[in-house]
Amino acid sequence: MGKRFCVRCGREEGPNTPIIDGLCPACFIKERRMLELPTKIRVTICPICGALYIHGDWVRIGKNVEDVIEYFINKTIVKRHNIYPGLDDVKAKVVGVESGMVYLRVTAHYKNVSLSQDVATHVELHKKPCPLCLHSRSGSYEAMLQIRTIAPVRFDVMRDIGNRLARVREFRESIVEIKEHKDGVDVKLSNQAITRYVANILKREYAAKITMTWENTGYLGGKRRSKLTISARLPGLVSGDIIEYEGEPAEVTKLKKGGVIIKRLSDGKVVTLRHDDIWKSGFKYLNEKDYAVLDGRILNYEGGKAVVQATDSGNIYFIKSPRILNLGSRVKILIYKGKAYLLI
Ligand SMILES: [Zn+2]
Ligand SMILES: [Zn+2]
Repeated sequence: MGKRFCVRCGREEGPNTPIIDGLCPACFIKERRMLELPTKIRVTICPICGALYIHGDWVRIGKNVEDVIEYFINKTIVKRHNIYPGLDDVKAKVVGVESGMVYLRVTAHYKNVSLSQDVATHVELHKKPCPLCLHSRSGSYEAMLQIRTIAPVRFDVMRDIGNRLARVREFRESIVEIKEHKDGVDVKLSNQAITRYVANILKREYAAKITMTWENTGYLGGKRRSKLTISARLPGLVSGDIIEYEGEPAEVTKLKKGGVIIKRLSDGKVVTLRHDDIWKSGFKYLNEKDYAVLDGRILNYEGGKAVVQATDSGNIYFIKSPRILNLGSRVKILIYKGKAYLLI
């Protein structure tokens, strides 16, 4: 193949001067647009917190309006159909925003050569308070959701619940305030219907017990107003937890949508507890103060019971065993209310 030359300035093709559509890089950026921009970019920003409205959602990029516009352009305009064919790694950087114009430096790669082009277009900033700022500024809320757990509050459990509820857009947009404390989380919301809706999710998926109370807060425009408080009590268990159920200790083996699977320590029976099982008969979360766990070893089986020796004390326990293990097997002994159980 013969050498190619720039049709505009005559420069010969070389490793640092590839010919792009008949032009050398320098002429290419003078003659062509690396990125097609609309004549006007409309960006909706919350004037209070600087959140950006994009793809139907409010996102918080930072306080700096340049950063917000840059994020918006890269997410919505830097798309294959707006990019000159053959260019890779196209990025737009905002170098200035002034009197309704946004000035951009567009960078890209063509083969191994970096290209950069300065462009400008009109920008219109539409200012609209985001739901969060709207509510917190007015300070008004219509409903309070109190999330509590029977087991101690655990970060992973709460994060999982938070992620689940955050998938409900109307919930996110109705939040006025979130307060985390050692017993759980209080969420103030501007919308009672959505509060009832998410309480129902907590009941269905996390076996929460829901209690609703209304408090009259006077009249507004002749209509009686009341605030709704929903208390959602969740088991909040994780696998490995020990609970007392129907008077006997049991180990939580698995969590299930809307329930908990436990293994009774006395006979190894696996029981699935659904919402009503949990709340009608109740359960007690046991912590390390309620029971002791010892290391032990199976010595023998006698009369249907395992003969187990505790490693530290040398004490011998006769324990009803849900299944037969090899002699010499190491096991954990759980002592609860003076009775010994095997954790196997
Ligand atoms: Zn040229
Ligand atoms: Zn805002």
